[in-house]
Amino acid sequence: MAKMLNCLKEGCTFVVRGESVDDILTKLKMHAMIAHQMPQLPADLVEKAKAAVREG
Ligand SMILES: [Zn+2]
Repeated sequence: MAKMLNCLKEGCTFVVRGESVDDILTKLKMHAMIAHQMPQLPADLVEKAKAAVREG
């Protein structure tokens, strides 16, 4: 079952798609680093992202 997550950054329309929550978090980290200059995702943001992952 594929999963998806909208980027949590306000104003960003990027959508992450992946096979699992871990897969999505890996891709979200790469996106955050490239698009938002965030080499590290804060732990609370990771928790928010996990909670926001949905089936897609
Ligand atoms: Zn983004």
